[in-house]
Amino acid sequence: MQKKIKEVIDSFSLRRNTKTVSIGNISLGGNNPIRIQSMTNTNTMDTKNCCKQICELVDSGCELVRIATPDIKSAQNLYEIKNTLLKIGYNVPLIADVHYNPKVAEVAASLVEKVRINPGNYFDRPSNKKRWTYKEYNEELERISLRLLPLVETCKRFNCAIRVGTNFGSLSQRIVSKYGNTPIAMAISAMEFTKILDSLNFDQIVLSQKASNVQTMIQSTKLLCYLLDKENLNYPIHLGVTEAGDGNYGRIKSAIGIGTLLSLGIGDTIRVSLTENPEKEIAAAMDILQASGKRIFKAEIISCPSCGRTKYNIEEALQEVKKACEHLKGVKIGVMGCIVNGLGEMADADYGYIGSGKGIVNLYRKKDLIYKNIPQNKALEKLISMIKEDGKWIDL
Ligand code: SF4
Repeated sequence: MQKKIKEVIDSFSLRRNTKTVSIGNISLGGNNPIRIQSMTNTNTMDTKNCCKQICELVDSGCELVRIATPDIKSAQNLYEIKNTLLKIGYNVPLIADVHYNPKVAEVAASLVEKVRINPGNYFDRPSNKKRWTYKEYNEELERISLRLLPLVETCKRFNCAIRVGTNFGSLSQRIVSKYGNTPIAMAISAMEFTKILDSLNFDQIVLSQKASNVQTMIQSTKLLCYLLDKENLNYPIHLGVTEAGDGNYGRIKSAIGIGTLLSLGIGDTIRVSLTENPEKEIAAAMDILQASGKRIFKAEIISCPSCGRTKYNIEEALQEVKKACEHLKGVKIGVMGCIVNGLGEMADADYGYIGSGKGIVNLYRKKDLIYKNIPQNKALEKLISMIKEDGKWIDL
């Protein structure tokens, strides 16, 4: 029974064992932190604005930046972008996002740290074919292998990684003819490319399975991990819900898709796709990682929803505590409405700020009562003094 209990708990907490992939000065997979990435939405030919946006992303906490690379000219311009960034001290790994044109991928691979290719449109000759014989299907895989070879050689020469980025909306006709438009088709599509890359002795691979439907994204990613691990191809996984939208709904959709897989131990890098300024994606990504307990960026401040037992202004108190203490990475503070349940509910918090009566609060260090019945307007000052006494305070 004990063994079974451990198995059940581990299946929701242990991180999938993945190989480590180097992307410039960043390592991804293995025991490395789950990396945060985003994508520019500026014109790739506009070096100045691209660099400006990349710097803003990096300053917000972005660790890898993807750039749309639609043609040879934009691939060549990655050189200008890279050098401009290096000159101003931004050595962030760049990822070229390539569709349709293997030549573009090859140029980009000589200039940046990672190239994202889409197995649905990297090399799939346009066809109205509805059925493929076994022989035709395998001949096509051989052609893909030949077409990938120059990219792999360039990647090996320039230390460039490859993301095999499968999208539900752009699966190849060949795959769809055999597996339909399904999560299975997505996983098989990625597996085919991974096996080809592996057969070419290339191991700097990252994979993603993106869909705007959260269930599809979760199912195909889980299935892909199962297939990869079965073949000892345990490459790292990039998570994201594509076309998630904006605002609250976009964030909730991304949190469900990304968070579910993170909770299952799957995921080595994430992108929260939002129809907003890319910088906003970074804060959302950090919140998803912190809320799922995978990375810590700031203080963990928990608070109860309050109820009829709350006799002080808890909303105001919470905002004050957040403003003053959120930067204290690793510190856990509970802001609770009442002493009836608050102390028990704040669980393992380092400090408790708990309503004890009308306009008054008690302050706790762990479960120990330190200050009793303090007027709310004096409580923050006392809380900060406790944090300072413990040597956990950092001036902003
Ligand atoms: S901690 Fe107290 S005030 Fe907050 S919700 Fe629970 S019972 Fe209500």
